[in-house]
Parts: sequence; structure tokens; C-alpha cells
Amino acid sequence: MESKTAILIIYTGGTVGMIKDPETGSLKPFNFEYLFQHIPVLERMNYHIDYHTFDPLVDSSNMKPSFWVKLAGIIEEKYEEYDGFVVLHGSDTMAYTASALSFMFENLNKPVILTGAQLPLDLVRSDGRDNIINSVEIAAAKKDDIAIVPEVAICFENYLYRGNRTSKFNAEHFEAFLSGNYPALAEVGVKIKYNRNYIQKPNFKKLKVHDKLENNVAILKLFPGITQCAVESLLNTQDLKAVILETFGSGNAPTDGWFLDALKKAIDRGMYIYNVTQCKSGTVEMGLYETSADLEKMGVIGGYDITTESAIAKMMYLLGEGYKREKVIALMRESLRGELTKQ
Ligand code: ASP
Repeated sequence: MESKTAILIIYTGGTVGMIKDPETGSLKPFNFEYLFQHIPVLERMNYHIDYHTFDPLVDSSNMKPSFWVKLAGIIEEKYEEYDGFVVLHGSDTMAYTASALSFMFENLNKPVILTGAQLPLDLVRSDGRDNIINSVEIAAAKKDDIAIVPEVAICFENYLYRGNRTSKFNAEHFEAFLSGNYPALAEVGVKIKYNRNYIQKPNFKKLKVHDKLENNVAILKLFPGITQCAVESLLNTQDLKAVILETFGSGNAPTDGWFLDALKKAIDRGMYIYNVTQCKSGTVEMGLYETSADLEKMGVIGGYDITTESAIAKMMYLLGEGYKREKVIALMRESLRGELTKQ
């Protein structure tokens, strides 16, 4: 008998699985039998589908690296049993989780597709049904018995994006994510059209899970008028090891002496400063303007077109690995999981 493609759906929490408590009127998580009630077509898909529910379920605003470790651990444990994984997750921090998982999984050769919804499944107009069905279809898709999307990706509304290239940009529209610097891996219409040239190729090596994540990292978003006190207090945070510096345009920052001094002192103390742009599309080009030339000279590392979500997850991963400083810096500049394009 032909064995069916096996998919594991992991529910972590978020709007997609919430139902309105008739007594209190607030949203609470459902159990999985309920999923079949709302998407009966799942039973008709010719796959073997199993479920795993996290306990406790979390609104993704409560997502933490310790939870990513748990999630990665489940996928690692079930990796041989299933052909693909669908992770139901709140959309608010989905891009962070997708980025983190992408770094945690080295040699991933199976699909890990994150999805969710803007409206809970029990609402008539919920976008969750289509998102889940499309994600299962993508997680199961194979060509010549090889997964078509062997990477961590986000499937939302009509697109499949590389997980570590996405940002949530809309809190209301069903089209909630964008990938400003990398083309969609697939477009979902009457057919699911895969952009095979942009999808990672499998390497058939054994999965390796990196589960030591460094928490002592922070994001510093620049704005006109940012004060010396605010910058210095962040950079002087006890035990802080790395800062994602969200700069203007192509990687530019103020040239005030106090600002450059504060960064230089932090770098001299051993801190890593990773320069990412606040723009949703485009790349950091250190040295293009005088406003980034000083940064480059003092040792700020340019992140090219990496997203902030991906940059913070990458730093957690790299620092967790305990590499020497030169190696961390070299890897910050490289694409490890397709998260950046060097110009
Ligand atoms: N607050 C919810 C969450 O991120 C929103 C959603 O699921 O889309 O968990």
C-alpha cells in the first residue's frame, strides 16, 4: 500500500485558533477536534495529518527564545516521522519565530511552514481556513519524492515567503506580511506556483539543531532627536553583547561626536553592532555617505538587506554558538540561511 505523506500541525497559539468564550466574550484557544469541524476538508486531503498542541498556548506577543527551543525540539524529535511541518502561530511575532527557526535548523531538508490568521477560525470570514489548507498543501508538496520547499517559510494570504526575509507590516489586512528584499517563494492562486529558482535546495545532510540562544541582545532604532542619555543607557546595559542598530536609508546615522563615541566605546568593550536599515526594502551600504563611513571605520558591521527580525535572531544564534569574535563578525556578513544578499 502506498504510504501517505505525513504532516504534523503544531499549534502554538494566536488568533487562528481562538474562539469567543460565550460567557466572557473574550478570545480563548480551542482544541484540535475543533480544527476539523471548521476545516472538514482537511480530512479529505490525502495526507496523514497529526497535531501537537502547545501547553500553554501563547499569544505570540509572549513568544520567547525558550519557546523557540521547545518548538525546534518538537520538530527535531518528529523530524523522521513526518514529511513536513505546519506551525500555527500568532502573526504578531511570526517573522521573529520564522527567522529564529531558520538559524536553529542547519541542513533543513523538509518544509517548516508557519501560518496563522487575522480572524479566528470560527468567524465566517476567517482567513485561517485558506492559510491552513495552503500551508498543509505546501508542506506536503514534493517533486520526484523530494520536498519542494525544504526551508522555514511563512504562508499568509496569497504568498509564501522565506521566513527570515519577512516582516509583519499590516495589522488589519489579510495580506499581513511582506518580504521587501526577496521574491515570494510561491504564489497561491488557482495553482500554487513555486518560484523554484528562489527556493533553497536540499543538501540531504543530517539535520542539526542549534538551541543555545543568547538573550543579551537589543535593538536600537534611531530617530531624529534621539538623546545621548537614551543611547548611552542602552549601550551600557549590563551584560549586553550585541545591538541591532536600525539606521536610516542605506545605513546612515547621526555624526554627532557623542553618538559616535558611545558606539566606539561599546565596540571597544567587545560589543557587536549590526547595522540594518529601517527601510522595508533596500540595503545597507556602509561608506556610501559620510554618515555611515565613520560607523564602518569603528567596526560597526553592515547587515546588507537583512530584516531587523532576522538580524536579532541571527545574533542570538551566533552568540549562542560561542564562536570567537572574528568568526562572529565574518558570519554576520555572510548569508547563512538565505537571510541576506550581499551587494
Ligand atoms: N495577537 C495575536 C498573536 O500574535 C495576533 C495574531 O494571531 O495574528 O498571537
